[in-house]
Amino acid sequence: MFAHNKRLQYTVRVQETNPGLANLMLEQFGGPQGELAAACRYFTQHLSEDDPGRRDMLIDIATEELSHLEVIGTIVAMLNKGAKGKLSEAAESEAEMYRSISGAGNDSHVTQLLYGGGPSLTNSGGVPWTAAYIDSLGDPTCDLRSNIAAEARAKIIYERLIACTDDPGVKEALGFLMTREIAHQQSFEKALYSIQPNFPPGKLPGMPQFTNVYFNMSNGDATRDMRGPWNNEPLFDYRQAEPAVDGGSGLPEVKLQSNEAQVVEQLALRTRSDPNSDPTTGAELGMAGAADPTEASMRAAAGGSSTKKAKSRGTKSTPTDGGAAI
Ligand code: MN
Ligand code: MN
Repeated sequence: MFAHNKRLQYTVRVQETNPGLANLMLEQFGGPQGELAAACRYFTQHLSEDDPGRRDMLIDIATEELSHLEVIGTIVAMLNKGAKGKLSEAAESEAEMYRSISGAGNDSHVTQLLYGGGPSLTNSGGVPWTAAYIDSLGDPTCDLRSNIAAEARAKIIYERLIACTDDPGVKEALGFLMTREIAHQQSFEKALYSIQPNFPPGKLPGMPQFTNVYFNMSNGDATRDMRGPWNNEPLFDYRQAEPAVDGGSGLPEVKLQSNEAQVVEQLALRTRSDPNSDPTTGAELGMAGAADPTEASMRAAAGGSSTKKAKSRGTKSTPTDGGAAI
C-alpha cells in the first residue's frame, strides 16, 4: 500500500513567481529523464523482481522518486502561482496578459494557458509524457544498467536547471533532487555488481572469435583511426573491417518452398526493369519541352528558345554508352 505524508521530502521555498522557469522545470516532471518516468521505471521493475534485496531497493527508490515528483511539481505550481491567479481572474489588460505569457523569452503558455498554472505531464516543450520513456525488459543486469544511465541523465538535467535560476530556494531544492540521483546511481551500481557474473548480460556467452574483436569500420585518413583502451590489446584484437568474417560468401541465402519460389519469380518478372528503354518522364516533359534536362538548362541559361524537338527516340540509350549519344 501507499500512504501519503502531508509534508514534502524537501522543503520548497520559492522566492518569486516565474512562469518561464516553471516551464523549464516541467522537464523533470513529465520529461524523459523526469521523476514520473523514474518512479514508474522502478515501481514496475519491483513488481516482478524475485530477488528480495533488489525488490526492496526498487520500491524504496520508486517511492522516493514519487516524492521527488511531488517536490518538482510543487516547484512548478509555486512558480506559476501568481500567473495562475492573474490569468484566472483576468486581472491584467489583454495586452499585459499576453506579454506576461509570451514576452521576453517566456514560453510558459503550456503551463499557463493550457494547464492553468498547474504542472502538466509534459516535458518542457509540451510533449506529453509517455511510457515509451521506460525501457525495462525484465533482466536485472540490463535493467540495472539502464537505471544507472537514467540516473546519470537525470543528474545532468538537474545540473542544467540549476544553472538556469538564481532563486536560492529553487536552487537548493533542485540541488537536493540532483544529489539523490547520485545516491540512486550508486545503489544501482552496487546492486549490479552484487550479481556475479553480470557480464555479458543473460545466459549465453558470445561467440569467442568475435567477443573481443574491434572492427575498424571507417575508411579514409588512417591518422584519425584512434586507438585507446576501447580497442587496444590485450583485451581487443584490432582488425580492419572485411565482409563475411564467418568465412562464407557474404551473400544471403534462403530456402524457399516451391510455391513460394514460384510467386517470388512471378513478382520479379512483373516488376523487372528494361535496361534498353529510354522512357520520357514527367520531369523531362516539364522542362520546357526538351527531353534532355542538361540541354534544356543550357538553353535556358543562354536565353534560347525551346523550339528544338526532343532528341531522336531512335537512339536508344544503354547503360554502357554513358548517355553520350546526344
Ligand atoms: Mn529523483
Ligand atoms: Mn533517482
